[in-house]
Amino acid sequence: MRFFSRTILLSFVAGLLLTFALSAQLKQDAAPAAPILGFSPVHATAEHQLETAFQSIPSPEKAREWHHTLTAEPHPAASARNNELADFIAAEWRKQGWEDVVLRRYDVLHSRPRSVSLEMTSPTAFTASLREDSYDADPDTKNPAVSGSYFGYSASGDVTAEVVYAHSGNPEDYDLLRENGISVRGKIVLVRYSNPYSYRGFKALTAEREGAAALLIYSDPAEDGFTRGKVFPDGPWGPESHIQRGAITYDYIVPGDPTTPGWSSVPGAKHIAPEEARSLPKIPALPLSWRDAKPLLENMNGQEVPKDWQGALPITYRLTGAVRAHVIVDMDISMQPYTVVEARIRGSELPDEWVLLGNHRDAWAFGGVDPSSGTASMMELTRSLGELKQRGIRPRRTIVVCSWDGEEYALTGSTEWGEQFADDLKKKLVAYLNVDESVAGADTTAGPEGLSFTPAAVASLAPMLVEASKDVRAPSGKSLYDAWRATGMRDSKGGVRPLDSELVETRIGSGSDHTVFLNHLGRPVINLGFAGDYGVYHSMYDDHYWMSRIGDPRFEYHVALTRIWGLVALRLANADILPLDFGFNGAALETFLHELEQKNKLKSQLNLKKLHARVAEFEKAGNLLREASVRGLQAGAASPEKFQLLNAQLMQVESNWLDPAGIPGRPWFQHLLYSSRYTYAHLEFPGLTEAVEKQDWKLAAQQAALLEIALEKNTKLLRSARSSLEKKQ
Ligand SMILES: [Zn+2]
Repeated sequence: MRFFSRTILLSFVAGLLLTFALSAQLKQDAAPAAPILGFSPVHATAEHQLETAFQSIPSPEKAREWHHTLTAEPHPAASARNNELADFIAAEWRKQGWEDVVLRRYDVLHSRPRSVSLEMTSPTAFTASLREDSYDADPDTKNPAVSGSYFGYSASGDVTAEVVYAHSGNPEDYDLLRENGISVRGKIVLVRYSNPYSYRGFKALTAEREGAAALLIYSDPAEDGFTRGKVFPDGPWGPESHIQRGAITYDYIVPGDPTTPGWSSVPGAKHIAPEEARSLPKIPALPLSWRDAKPLLENMNGQEVPKDWQGALPITYRLTGAVRAHVIVDMDISMQPYTVVEARIRGSELPDEWVLLGNHRDAWAFGGVDPSSGTASMMELTRSLGELKQRGIRPRRTIVVCSWDGEEYALTGSTEWGEQFADDLKKKLVAYLNVDESVAGADTTAGPEGLSFTPAAVASLAPMLVEASKDVRAPSGKSLYDAWRATGMRDSKGGVRPLDSELVETRIGSGSDHTVFLNHLGRPVINLGFAGDYGVYHSMYDDHYWMSRIGDPRFEYHVALTRIWGLVALRLANADILPLDFGFNGAALETFLHELEQKNKLKSQLNLKKLHARVAEFEKAGNLLREASVRGLQAGAASPEKFQLLNAQLMQVESNWLDPAGIPGRPWFQHLLYSSRYTYAHLEFPGLTEAVEKQDWKLAAQQAALLEIALEKNTKLLRSARSSLEKKQ
C-alpha cells in the first residue's frame, strides 16, 4: 500500500518536473535530499519533490481574487451574506476536488443590535455618531450594510449616570480610583483599548464586578491611531471615527454558544436559559471611536489622571467630574443557525489519522484582515492540495479543512464542532493548524525586512515548524526562516538575532479557533500569520482597499502563508514518525516553571523540587526517543506497523495533559500545561499558576501533584515507545 502510493507519487513528480523543465532540480535530486524530521531518507526525497510541486501552485493573483470576493460585503455571523459565503466555499471545495464536503449546522444563541445611542446630557449636550465616516477613495466605506457601533452579547439597558474614566479598565485601575475616593458603582465607566493589552470581555467582567452600570470602550490614538503613523485611507492606522467592534463574551470561562456550555448546539440540543449562562455579560456596553469619546473626556473637570493614564488626545485627561451621559443599548437576542463548512482529502494509508486546517469566515464588517486574509490563504491552500489530489497525489493521512462560523462571538463554530466530534478528535486528530489573520500588517510601512512572521505553537511542534520555514520563500526573497530571524532581531528589545529555539512563540493564549482543540480536547495546535502596522482591527476600514493598497498590495504574504501552512500540513500528513519533539517540549516546560518561580518570588511557601525532577525526566526521555527515532528512520528497517504504534503513543502523550476535572473554577479548560488568562493572555500551568497567584498553597500543592502524575505517566510512555522502537523485529 505504502510502496504503491509512493511510487505513483515519485513518478508523477518526476513527470511534473520535466513538464516544467526544472532540470536543475532533477540534477539536485541525485544527491541525498535534506532530511526532514519524521521522514526516512527515501521518503524525505519524495516529500521534497511533492513540496516543490505544491509550492508552484498558489498564486498572488488568485489570492487577490479570493480576497476581493470574500470582502465584497460585510459578513458577520448569522447574516445572509455570511451564509452565502458558506455555500460559495463549499461549492469551490467541491470544484477543487475535495471530498465529503458538508455544511454542519448549529443553532446558537446569537446577539445583534436593534438600536444603540449615547448622549452627553451635562455639562453640555452632545450626541455620539456611533458611525464611521466614508471616504471617496474607498467606495466600500459607503456601503449601507455596514453596522454601527455595538458589542456582541452586550446586555440591553438604558442608563443615565455620571461618567468616570478608568484607564484600561483592569482591576488595578479601579484600585487607583478607589485610592482617590472614587467609586464607579452605578456609574458609566469609560475605558480605552488597551494599555497594557487586555481582551474587551475582561474589561466588561471587571466593570460588572465593580458595580458599574454601563461600560464604554474607546480607541485612543496612542494605541492604534495617528500617534502610531499615517491613518486610513493614507496609511494602516485607525482614523478619528474608526470603531473597534467585538464581542465581550466571557469565553475565557467557557467558549461557544453560551447556552450549551460543554456540549454541542446541534439542532435539537438542550439549551440552558440565558440567565444561567456563565459567559454572558450583565451590563450594557458600547465601543466608541476617539471622536465620540473626546467630548466626554474633555468636559470632565475633576482630578487629573496619573501620567500613564494620559492618552494621545490633546486634552488633559481627568478621572471624573461634571460629565453625565445617557446610554441605550437594545440588543436582539435570538437563536440563529451558524454553519461550519467541512471537507477532506481522505488519506491513502492512514485515513483515520487527521490533520485539521481551519479559519473562521465571519467578520465584524468586510474582514479585510480579520479573517478574510486567512480565508484567501486557505482557499489557495485548498486549491493547491485539490490540484495535487486531482493529479493522483493523496496525503498518507487525511487532511480535513473547516471554515468556522461565529468565531467573533465566542469562538462558537469551532467550539460546537469540536464538542460534537470530541470522541473522534481525541483519537484521530494529529494536530490543528489555525490561521485567523494571515496578513495583519502593512507591507507598505514594514521596511526592508518586511512583515514579521508571528506563529505560535505547542512546544512539541515548534522544531518542525522552524524546519519547514527553511523551505519556503518569504516575499523579501530570503527563505522564510532567514526573514523570520531578521524580523525577530528587528522586533526584539536588544536587537539580538533569535536562536532557532526562540523563534516560535510556545506560550499560547486564547482568542481564536485553536482553543477547543488545545484546551478542551488536548490536541497539539499551531497558529500561523504575519503581522505589522495595523490600526483598523474590527472596524469598517479593515477591508479590501486596506489590504490591496496598504497591507499586502502584491498579495505575496498571502501566498507565503499558504505555502508554510501547506508544508506543515503535508509533513504532518506524510511523516513516518509524527514530528512531535518532547525533548524540546520538556525544555520549554522547565522554562515555564522557572518563570513561574521568578515572577512569584517563590521560596519556602511551595516546594517544586519534585516537579522540576519530573520535568527533567520527561525532557530526557523525550530527547532519547527523538534520537532513537532518527536512528530508526535512518536504518529504514522498521515496519509501518511499528511506526503506527509509535505514532499512537506520541499522540497519547498530548492527550495525557488533559485533566477531565478541568482547572479550578473553569472545568471546560482541561489542559494542565496551557490555558489563557481572562485577558486572553497566555497562561502556562494554569491550575498551579492561578493557585500560586492567589497564594492558596494547599491548592498549589495539589495542582503541582497533578502535573507530577501527568509527567510521570508521559515519561513512562516515552520510555516504552523507545524500547518498542528499538526492539528487533
Ligand atoms: Zn479573527
